Amino acid sequence: MARRHAAQKGVRQCATHAGVHASSGRSAQRIDAQNPLAFPPQNMPPSRQHSRTVKHRPKVIVVGSGVMGASAAWHLSKAGAAVTVIERAPDALITATASSFGWVGAGASTPSDDLSAFTERLTALEEFGSIERDLGPLPIAARGALLWLPTENETAALVAEHRAAGTRMQRLARPQIAEKEPMLADPPSLAAWAPDDFALEPAAFARQLLAGAKVAGTCVRQGTVDTVEIAGNRIAGVVVEGQKLAADTVVLANGHGSRKLALTVGADLPIHESPAVLLRFATEADGLRHLICAQEMELRPALGGGLVAAADYPEDGESGLPILAARTGDAIAHLFGMWAAPDLLSIRVAQRPMTADGRPLCGGVGEIEGLYALVAHPGVILAPVLGRRCAESILRS
Ligand SMILES: Cc1cc2nc3c(=O)[nH]c(=O)nc-3n(C[C@H](O)[C@H](O)[C@H](O)COP(=O)(O)OP(=O)(O)OC[C@H]3O[C@@H](n4cnc5c(N)ncnc54)[C@H](O)[C@@H]3O)c2cc1C
Repeated sequence: MARRHAAQKGVRQCATHAGVHASSGRSAQRIDAQNPLAFPPQNMPPSRQHSRTVKHRPKVIVVGSGVMGASAAWHLSKAGAAVTVIERAPDALITATASSFGWVGAGASTPSDDLSAFTERLTALEEFGSIERDLGPLPIAARGALLWLPTENETAALVAEHRAAGTRMQRLARPQIAEKEPMLADPPSLAAWAPDDFALEPAAFARQLLAGAKVAGTCVRQGTVDTVEIAGNRIAGVVVEGQKLAADTVVLANGHGSRKLALTVGADLPIHESPAVLLRFATEADGLRHLICAQEMELRPALGGGLVAAADYPEDGESGLPILAARTGDAIAHLFGMWAAPDLLSIRVAQRPMTADGRPLCGGVGEIEGLYALVAHPGVILAPVLGRRCAESILRS
């Protein structure tokens, strides 16, 4: 997320960062986030691979298997829809999901900045618990976030605002900060502690959702969707690399590409792209325990070791990336009192799909019956709740 705090105007605009039938309760098997390829289990009886709760089984094509598409597919298939996910690049590292920082929670946003977006993030947080109950442990890299702003007063104001909005954010003084994060060389005098926020590995999370969807009957197919097909005012299907595929419903969950596909049937979706940068560092400072948002930087431990940082795309474009990498490395070294910057493992720029007014697109597109869009920012936080709402809306119609 390229974030800025409310006090700095706008907090973390994420650098980075409509119903389902209740699940039958016999939802998909618990999924091992570390080994999503192991699914569906060989010994799972076919009858358990689909939990059908709808009489008419709508045939749904979901375009894209990023975190949004994977969530929609999982919610739809566990509620009984016949789902096919079409993904053009299953292993692409440049998608938003594969390059995401993975901060989940409302700690880095401010209620006064946008109350409804703030409230939506709090609601979204609750969804992760039910996913974990259904699919097993989430690929969580860190629990709890420490945030501090340039001055104590700003940090105190952030905590006060959060508490007034009903969150469990707390003030922590230097000794408490040092206890939580012993690696910090010079802890601030005051920090905000967001105990409910966490960071997960977004690509692993999307794979976990997709593996759950497959167990519930979703079919995943590789290919590029060229156009959406309609008959009159109704969805007929899609064309995948020249081949027609019929469907009752098409969900455009392919990020910014949703705009291009909607245009093929004359609908103009208000989506644009915004770049952000993800940096990975190898470091001996593997003792970082929590999310940190401070000094213009978001930092967290990576699940397999090392550190992950998110930053805004440099104003001078591509040529500014080496400077950004050096500055981030120096900031990490300063934070942990290291004598040299940690080794940069990778620096990746990815485009975040954004909507014009910042509100999620989650529901029917224009007057075209059976055409849905699922595009939002910050997508990792919102995917579980929006995927559920999108599925509910489809299955109600
Ligand atoms: C550096 C960075 C940090 C971020 N940090 C956070 C954060 O901390 N918290 C947070 O919530 N969000 C964060 N975000 C935003 C978040 O990652 C995105 O909102 C989210 O991943 C979007 O998911 P998506 O599924 O909509 O899009 P994508 O992940 O881009 O998935 C779309 C998929 O559709 C496929 N596709 C496209 N066109 C077609 C086609 N025609 N046919 C078939 N397949 C197609 C693509 O290959 C892709 O796999 C961050 C993003 C970045 C880049």
